[in-house]
Amino acid sequence: MIFELLKQQRRRRLRARPFPNKWLTLIQRHVVFFQRLSGSDRGELLGHIQVFLAEKRFEGCGGFAITDEVRVTVAAQACLLLLHRRTDYFPNLLTILVYPLSYMVEEKRQVGEHVWEEGTVSRLGETGRRMGSLVLSWGAVKHGAADPADGKNVVLHEFAHQLDFENGATDGVPGLATREQQLAWSEVMRNEFASLRAADESGIPTLLDTYGATNPAEFFAVSVEAFFEQPRALLARHPKLYDELRTYFQQDPVEFSAEVV
Ligand SMILES: [Zn+2]
Repeated sequence: MIFELLKQQRRRRLRARPFPNKWLTLIQRHVVFFQRLSGSDRGELLGHIQVFLAEKRFEGCGGFAITDEVRVTVAAQACLLLLHRRTDYFPNLLTILVYPLSYMVEEKRQVGEHVWEEGTVSRLGETGRRMGSLVLSWGAVKHGAADPADGKNVVLHEFAHQLDFENGATDGVPGLATREQQLAWSEVMRNEFASLRAADESGIPTLLDTYGATNPAEFFAVSVEAFFEQPRALLARHPKLYDELRTYFQQDPVEFSAEVV
């Protein structure tokens, strides 16, 4: 308990520290959604960024050099997921690995009932419950920060997975406070996931990225991208899904979205 208290105290001090001007300039220049937030949300976000950057380690991969621009651009987007809620700052995550562009991995994937294909695929990001790390492509991070309304954001996607892990499972369910919330969440997500799968199979165009049809964990991550990037469209077409996400995040991105509909 004493460690918990010391941790809270340290984080309070970090949040209260004056925010470096150089970092603020970088955020204002590169992270488009920032200027659209209310003044109090901007203040809260900057406090979270101080904690995030003090606690998480960044490592460049493939010859990539980590700069302040990289650190704050990742942190600002990741910390958007923390506003208005009690948070433990992605407790399973220690290190963020950044590649310059996409990176290649060996992957085995099922293409038929008994058919597996092995090959090299390129990725823009990944994380796992037992990894303790999260991998990002800087090219994709920068693009996500520059275009806040195209429905794609690798930082929001991968950090949504980290929120999913908070209840100890990779199941598309983040840490929800009450049993009622869990039940409501499960029902809505089950139905929405099933309809995305069905649409994907019959080739019907969808608002949500059909990558979300892979499994409930990817469905959650893809929904989070749509919630923050295309909230008006999501609210119009998937009101129940929007509602669950609004309740969980305690945010209504319709208020600050750059989305044009
Ligand atoms: Zn994913």
